[in-house]
Amino acid sequence: MKKDLDWANIGFGYRPTDVRYVSMFKNGAWDEGALTKDATVTISESAGVFQYAQTCFEGLKAYTTEDGHTVTFRPDLNAERMMNSCERLRLPVFPKERFIDAVMQTIRANIDWVPPYGSGASLYVRPFMMGTSPVLGVSPAAESMFRVFVSPVGPYFKGGVRPLKLRVSEYDRAAPNGTGHVKAGLNYAMSLYAIVEAHDQGYDENMYLDSKTRTKVEETGGANFLFVTKDGTVVTPKSPTILPSITRRSLMVVAKEYLGLKCEEREVPVEELSEIAECGLCGTAAVISPVGKVIYGEKEFTFDTSAENMGPTVRKLYETLTGIQMGRIEAPKGWIYRVD
Ligand SMILES: *Cc1c(COP(=O)(O)O)cnc(C)c1O
Repeated sequence: MKKDLDWANIGFGYRPTDVRYVSMFKNGAWDEGALTKDATVTISESAGVFQYAQTCFEGLKAYTTEDGHTVTFRPDLNAERMMNSCERLRLPVFPKERFIDAVMQTIRANIDWVPPYGSGASLYVRPFMMGTSPVLGVSPAAESMFRVFVSPVGPYFKGGVRPLKLRVSEYDRAAPNGTGHVKAGLNYAMSLYAIVEAHDQGYDENMYLDSKTRTKVEETGGANFLFVTKDGTVVTPKSPTILPSITRRSLMVVAKEYLGLKCEEREVPVEELSEIAECGLCGTAAVISPVGKVIYGEKEFTFDTSAENMGPTVRKLYETLTGIQMGRIEAPKGWIYRVD
């Protein structure tokens, strides 16, 4: 039986559920993995995760479709992305098929926590990995833990869609040849200073530029940009230091295949923002959040949000992808994984 929660008002925060998945890497191999009720982790004070931030994570969602099934969206891409993150952080790779299986098992075991169709809420799924054995000299931990927990989260646009106001950050997110392209906890630890400062100054997010030339748009701390030019072309920044958002990659397919729009993945000079008609932020949490304004020093760039607080093309992209996810629009083959 579904949990009796006020789905529209649960917010976005950690809410422990019945079960989570755990697998341990020891003596060079992963164990078989199991579901557990224990929401706590007990490890050495000198674990790699504590001393040298050896940890990475993923994020995806499960939800109820219009016809009442529980599904999740493209977990194979989260599996592949986590494999890349683990390689870059010298964590042991968790095999793709096992990752998908762990995610499916964890959702299935917590099916009562999957919010009903139409509530706007969803079940957030958080796979992550960390080095658990002690290190003192700098080296990868010999032992690691892979876990998946879930937490129900409320509608992202609670109280309606509101266009975001961003500032171009004076801080950098990712160094050339660094770790910007992998989902490492360390990328977030060092972004906290900039995001708290941005909030204190009345901004919703930071727009980061490439740290080498500081002339090209990269992304925010946790979402990729999608732009629509005045002639209706959908543009997303191309850079080796951007985290490849699964939402953004999916939206580019939707733009091209479903909406017949011209699409480009290319470098976007920050000065070009004056020529841009619409702007959105892409990520699992919101799918697309409309951006209304970007402040760049003395300059201010404003974007069309005339379609109920979104740009008209951004709105079409949003409606189409959420329609695909909720089963109202036919999905491309292999995008939707049925849990039940
Ligand atoms: C997770 C993340 C995103 C969004 O990726 P999705 O797969 O769409 O959720 C974008 N940028 C950064 C830095 C991220 O960590």
